[in-house]
Amino acid sequence: MTFAATILTLYPEMFPGPLRLSLAGRALEEQRWSLDTIQIRDFATDKHHTVDDTPAGGGVGMVLKVDILAAAVDHALRCQPKCPVLAMTPRGKPLDQARVRELAAGPGVTILCGRFEGFDERIFETRPVEEVSLGDIVLSGGEPAALTLLDACIRLLPGVMGAPSSGAEESFEEGLLEYPHYTRPVEWEGRTIPEVLRSGDHAKIAAWRKHRAEEDTRLRRPDLWERYGNARGRPASGVQRETKEPDQ
Ligand code: SAH
Repeated sequence: MTFAATILTLYPEMFPGPLRLSLAGRALEEQRWSLDTIQIRDFATDKHHTVDDTPAGGGVGMVLKVDILAAAVDHALRCQPKCPVLAMTPRGKPLDQARVRELAAGPGVTILCGRFEGFDERIFETRPVEEVSLGDIVLSGGEPAALTLLDACIRLLPGVMGAPSSGAEESFEEGLLEYPHYTRPVEWEGRTIPEVLRSGDHAKIAAWRKHRAEEDTRLRRPDLWERYGNARGRPASGVQRETKEPDQ
């Protein structure tokens, strides 16, 4: 089945952009995913093809008009009725790997890209549009966010990544950051690859990796660590972690 990506944008020429290359590019050639862009401006009704207007209540910048957005979204929904519509906005729910997995397992995704100050809020009140953020940063437009979201989905599609299991151990898949990696040379600028990774003892290696994944998550991402602990029904503390669990 082909994963159908549809992008609503004022800059269709930004697609497939970097997704033309590497894994995603090959997958596009192999028709594991398809790409359609819809020019939002095509739904403007005046002779100047206006898509934005000044913000109600005053202030800087311009806001994408709801009537134009709705016409564009309705068109996309007619083309891909089964695909969820996601709008890229810093006001949205932060995207995570669990949502990416769900999307990748589905028929595709329709992505609405903002520009200027963003969208007239009424689009979210009247259309089935999920607001999604890429994180607590402000981009100049939704297109780089859409490319990122697509990249994350495409690599999970069947047959896209080399080894079928190579997605399973990545950061966030277990609720943790991934353990650190090393490769040859064994010694470089006086630093050696940790002994355990050269031991050939697979059980020891697995234990070291789990320990590092937990330690690094605890130190770098207290938010993830807290959730990881809660998901296992115990406080997220290194001390507690050592206690024996009945379910293990
Ligand atoms: N005025 C808005 C920012 C607009 S930035 C605010 O302060 O919330 C212009 C467009 O870039 C947005 O409409 C959105 O589509 C995109 N964008 C910016 N930051 C983003 C983020 N963190 N995640 C997803 N999309 C983002």
